[in-house]
Amino acid sequence: MNVRYYFPVSVAYDSRACYEAATTKPTNHSLSLTLLHHRSLSLPFFQNPNFLTGNTMQRFCSVNGISKNRAMVERLQHFGVITSSKVAEVMETVDRALFVPSGSAPYDDSPMAIGYNATISAPHMHATCLQLLEENLQPGMRALDVGSGTGYLTACFALMVGPRGRAVGVEHIPELVSFAIENIQKSAAATLLKDGSLFVHVGDGREGWPEFAPYDAIHVGAAAPEIPQPLIDQLKPGGRMVIPVGNMFQDLKVVDKNSDGSISIRTETSVRYVPLTSREAQLRGY
Ligand code: SAH
Repeated sequence: MNVRYYFPVSVAYDSRACYEAATTKPTNHSLSLTLLHHRSLSLPFFQNPNFLTGNTMQRFCSVNGISKNRAMVERLQHFGVITSSKVAEVMETVDRALFVPSGSAPYDDSPMAIGYNATISAPHMHATCLQLLEENLQPGMRALDVGSGTGYLTACFALMVGPRGRAVGVEHIPELVSFAIENIQKSAAATLLKDGSLFVHVGDGREGWPEFAPYDAIHVGAAAPEIPQPLIDQLKPGGRMVIPVGNMFQDLKVVDKNSDGSISIRTETSVRYVPLTSREAQLRGY
């Protein structure tokens, strides 16, 4: 049996604090406390002041970057967040440093500001969502990433579904779509973008992206007050959606569409994401 622990991790941007973090841990309480301690306090290379001032060199020094990215994945495996070898492989392949603004600590396990009142999710949340969706990200399948932000998860989805599949990011801030495309072009998913199995579009993600529906996997990277009906409609029978739902208090919901079209919804864990809202509300600070 598993117990869910909630680990708030904060990052300041503008004048607000944004935080999101949650995962599933073994029932051994002392082990869990140790994990909590390790997560927040014992991050050897993350705490290195030189590392924290990591800059453009960090972003483009690929050998160094890849080994540190691998170390980030190994830490998530060590603490039981990543249990899937496929998810470990894709997160090792997509160097996170290519997706965070320069000057950020790319391998730190916390969300980071990306401008426009948005954040890139923490690595453990990316890992959690990839694992929840893994069965629906098989080669040849279709994935929709709503609120694709930096493009990091869209790139991971594209590598998992491969050249015969389709990964579609939808983001309502045009500058973030440009940022995502630049990031993806530097990453291991660049060929998939060039060859047309990976797309990032400007749009209101609450409407989904009907052009390529139905989807085997839908990920929503921002919290919706309630699950948007168009996203349910665009889910394939047998498909799965992972979506944070709520306002101040949010739950990560796992929505499965059964073969008869009915819907099953369960709560995975408590989370904190930025809102899935209108562009205007987001830009004025919600
Ligand atoms: N998953 C991404 C970004 C998470 S932040 C990453 O990790 O990089 C949530 C993103 O959702 C932001 O980029 C925000 O601009 C976007 N967003 C919020 N509401 C939206 C909407 N209605 N349509 C499309 N994107 C939206």
